[in-house]
Amino acid sequence: MDIELSKTDLEFQAEVRQFLSDNAYKPGEDYNKWRMNWFATAAAKGGWDVPKWPKEFGGPGWTPSQHYIWEREKAGKNLPWDLPFGIGMLAPVLMAHGNQKQLDRFMPDIRARKVIWCQGYSEPGAGSDLANLQTKAELTEDGKHYIVNGTKIWTTVAHMADWIFCLTRTSNTGKKQEGITFLLFPVKQEGVEVQPIITLGGAHTVNTVFLTDVKVPVENRIGEEGKGWTYAKGLLQHERTGLAGISNSLVALAKLKKNARSIIRGNGTLMDEPAFRSKVAELEVDLHALEYTELRSLANAAAGSDPGPESSILKLKGTEIQQRLAKLTVEAGGLHAAGWGQPVGPAFAHSGMQSYLGSRAYTIYGGASEVQRDVIAKNVLGLKKKSSEKTRTGKG
Ligand SMILES: Cc1cc2nc3c(=O)[nH]c(=O)nc-3n(C[C@H](O)[C@H](O)[C@H](O)COP(=O)(O)OP(=O)(O)OC[C@H]3O[C@@H](n4cnc5c(N)ncnc54)[C@H](O)[C@@H]3O)c2cc1C
Repeated sequence: MDIELSKTDLEFQAEVRQFLSDNAYKPGEDYNKWRMNWFATAAAKGGWDVPKWPKEFGGPGWTPSQHYIWEREKAGKNLPWDLPFGIGMLAPVLMAHGNQKQLDRFMPDIRARKVIWCQGYSEPGAGSDLANLQTKAELTEDGKHYIVNGTKIWTTVAHMADWIFCLTRTSNTGKKQEGITFLLFPVKQEGVEVQPIITLGGAHTVNTVFLTDVKVPVENRIGEEGKGWTYAKGLLQHERTGLAGISNSLVALAKLKKNARSIIRGNGTLMDEPAFRSKVAELEVDLHALEYTELRSLANAAAGSDPGPESSILKLKGTEIQQRLAKLTVEAGGLHAAGWGQPVGPAFAHSGMQSYLGSRAYTIYGGASEVQRDVIAKNVLGLKKKSSEKTRTGKG
């Protein structure tokens, strides 16, 4: 897609390119040192380390087109690793609902990437139907602590995390969405046991987290008791917007086309085969259509509003596109992509299958595709549910 960039935008684009090139990782450099320096240099540029944070919290206050440029320019570049849980998910909740003491305590470490956060939402019986969560938090008699008991599942990076933001049940009366409370507590403490789950692609990123009599000070509660659902829903919208991965998909699509042109088929290449070519073309059209939806969402964010239910469209279509890309990469790699860890055939094929298997989770986490379709039907299209249908507005 070509959008008309103003002179100021073009200057900004040049500045971004210069920044990314000046601060690129140089082979042989101490990676961790480079990573921390990168964030510090980006912070010194005026909030480039936290592009999506509002100005009053130290963000750069970029316009939608500046966000667009930043996303496009950094896609496919070797940026320092970062996780979304603190910066992109908890921070917006703290900004909106945390008290000053909590902001002072948690925001600087989140920004400095000093503390790794994980997200304790899902439970064995509460994924799509998140409001069904049963992890109990009971207030002690002196009212100073919550005692937390229950099980969280699919908790990404819990094995590396320092802290968890956790949805707990403090009441069973009324609607199930009403008795939920949002708590923060350290992972490395008595009563928290983290067990690995190895996923289809052979990776260890997710875990089961068992919570037994975990003591959480009341001052670690965000907002009011019983109002956690409202805060959690806001967070999900931020999470979903971040999962669309459009810029990375654009880079991956360009790579796919290049790789397909390197595979000889008869007198031409794989890209000349009508069946393959039409799949790539369909994907490209869908991807560009999604770019416009993302631009609309960026414009809303710049006007100060939270990402609305439209973020479900980005999540749904963006993750489906990422899966289609992974699938076409396996298709292009053919036999060579069938196994992994076997460096035979073209280089791009070596990790193709692992990426494809890993990509199956994209349409599950952050809210499964079926759930996003429900949200879109109800909150974007305004379609009414039949009273017999279950209400599911939460995660996954
Ligand atoms: C790799 C990965 C990382 C994750 N990371 C985290 C994390 O860090 N923190 C966290 O809290 N959670 C995390 N999750 C959990 C994720 O959010 C849940 O897996 C997701 O919400 C789906 O819930 P579930 O697994 O319980 O499946 P279920 O809710 O049981 O759903 C199973 C299937 O049924 C469908 N379904 C369910 N209900 C309906 C319905 N009413 N109508 C139509 N279809 C329906 C779903 O779409 C899905 O296809 C992660 C999951 C994965 C796979």
